[in-house]
Amino acid sequence: MAEQVLAAVRTAPGTTELREFPMPDIPDDGALLKVEVAGICGTDVKMYAKPPFGDPVIMGHENVGVIAAAGRTFTARRGLAEGDRVFVEHYVGCFRCEWCHQGEYRHCEATDWRTNPDARRYGYTSASNPYHLWGGFSQYLYLPWNAVIHRVPDGVSAELAGLVTPLSNGIEWALVTAGVGYASTVLIQGPGQQGLSQVVACKQAGASLVIVTGTTQDTARLDLAGELGADHVIDVRKEDALARVLEITGGRGVDVVLDCTAGAGTAPVLLGVDALKRREGTMVVQGELAAFPDFPLKKITEKSISVRSARGHSYRSCELALEQLASGRFPLERLSTHSFGLADTDRAIRTVGGEYGEGVVHVSLLPWAEATA
Ligand SMILES: [Zn+2]
Ligand SMILES: [Zn+2]
Repeated sequence: MAEQVLAAVRTAPGTTELREFPMPDIPDDGALLKVEVAGICGTDVKMYAKPPFGDPVIMGHENVGVIAAAGRTFTARRGLAEGDRVFVEHYVGCFRCEWCHQGEYRHCEATDWRTNPDARRYGYTSASNPYHLWGGFSQYLYLPWNAVIHRVPDGVSAELAGLVTPLSNGIEWALVTAGVGYASTVLIQGPGQQGLSQVVACKQAGASLVIVTGTTQDTARLDLAGELGADHVIDVRKEDALARVLEITGGRGVDVVLDCTAGAGTAPVLLGVDALKRREGTMVVQGELAAFPDFPLKKITEKSISVRSARGHSYRSCELALEQLASGRFPLERLSTHSFGLADTDRAIRTVGGEYGEGVVHVSLLPWAEATA
């Protein structure tokens, strides 16, 4: 194996440098992943523009690759061997706390960079920490004993497996958080990779009605929503979205609203409250809004709406996402629209942010690909 590992490092807001790191010495209970695909999402766009801290960071938190080297204890305990293709969750839990014992390691303090400056989380942890390789925009990734790893089924390519994160989030938020199931009626706001993944999760779960909203810039993505099984798509710039939802549902409104607009202000929440059925609807939100003037608490109370937060994925939703990808039941490969090499990391992140190109859904970084720009 090479002595040096090439990685794209965020060194300042909106700035990436290619740097070399020494190939780490792997402890007996650790391993090394040769990264094949690192997915990029809207969170990366935000973290790139406004890093939460100043240290250099190898970003990339949606990682798929092949185990390139593994210590004996790691192999024995994890049941994984060199050559296995795996998806690595970005959470690195302590596996001692109450959350970890419940299987909810996504809530573990040891992986929460917001409250713990020493947290380990792929794509967020400082490259100054031991082993350095804590992000997927790199040729290799370090796997400690407590990395959360899923075997990728045979027949699922690395690039397809790169969709596990958005798809597992879709499964988690729609099915687990919102309780979508047989004959549910659902409004999905925003046809990005997250919204489109929710379409698939809702259809697979048996939803009888899936409506997706977007804007005029989303025309290609709204078409894709239809191909993935959405029953209706609405361009909110051209149509009165609430009137359309009520017309489609015969005036009843929907059971569930999934807000995947991320950063579109208060409008999607206000539309969601009005589009929900008369009583006991559920709305899943993932807002970035620090303040919400005139928050419609009265209406939410009167309609007995449950507002729940979208917060990552669980182990089971990742396994279900891998099974969904392996089944080939939905043309999920259509979500994978752009890929870039390591030298084009900056451009790749900006492409997700909408600075380049059209019809962007899911962008992959391929650390071993030649430069593409
Ligand atoms: Zn992400
Ligand atoms: Zn823990």
